[in-house]
Amino acid sequence: MLEVTGLEKTYPTGDEALKGVGLSVEGSETVAMIGPSGAGKSTFIRCINRLTEPSAGEIRLDERELTGLDGDALRSARKDIGMIFQEYNLVERLTVMENVLTGRLGYVSAWDAFRRSFPAEDIERAYNILERVGLGDMENKRVDELSGGQRQRVGIARAVIQQPKILLVDEPTSSLDPETSETVMRLLTDIAAEREVPVLINIHEVDLALEHADRIVGLHDGELVFEGSPADLDEAG
Ligand code: ADP
Ligand code: ADP
Repeated sequence: MLEVTGLEKTYPTGDEALKGVGLSVEGSETVAMIGPSGAGKSTFIRCINRLTEPSAGEIRLDERELTGLDGDALRSARKDIGMIFQEYNLVERLTVMENVLTGRLGYVSAWDAFRRSFPAEDIERAYNILERVGLGDMENKRVDELSGGQRQRVGIARAVIQQPKILLVDEPTSSLDPETSETVMRLLTDIAAEREVPVLINIHEVDLALEHADRIVGLHDGELVFEGSPADLDEAG
């Protein structure tokens, strides 16, 4: 369970991106965070994984407080967080299989991934996940040969193989056409449900949030302005 309380972030530029946001995500629910550009959605996700440093607040993942961790403790905590990004953040020159395996091993450099030999058990697990995301026959393709939808499937496989306690997903469909977006969202929420992993997803397409999320939170100007079911949001207009 992810439990965030009073999260604040003021950038060195003076931008108050988050002004005390609280949110819990648990079980195998998918929570969609919606809001206009600049609302603070990606800052929220980046604070949880400490890609940016929060200014105040608490972030607990299964009882472990993440704020204040550094070094090995932070690296270990990050293994519990599966990240999926808008621009995929894959290593273009490596194969699909190599990209998935680097996820399993945590954040290693491309060079590191290249020279390591992976345990058979990890390779087996990666095959299974690649099959699940529909890339069973593409493990030796280089990522730079793939379409956007295929890349995002690799991104999902890489995040899921970590056996994370939560999936944080930042605008996964922004670079995809509507039909591919729909398929990727379906795949993502199905896999998360199968594995009982909660999902927090930033998404600006409200229709995708309405269709795929269990709960929706609205962020505006660094503050939570809505929280409810997709049906509640539909009524609120
Ligand atoms: P999105 O709306 O997709 O979150 P942004 O335009 O807010 O994208 O941010 C894109 C990148 O630019 C991010 O890495 C963010 O940290 C950075 N960024 C956004 N706003 C500023 C800013 N005012 N000053 C410096 N960097 C910024
Ligand atoms: P969203 O994801 O909802 O588009 P962001 O979290 O990217 O919102 O941005 C929230 C606010 O923080 C914006 O005003 C943006 O300009 C600012 N911001 C984001 N990243 C940075 C950064 N690295 N430096 C300074 N300001 C930033």
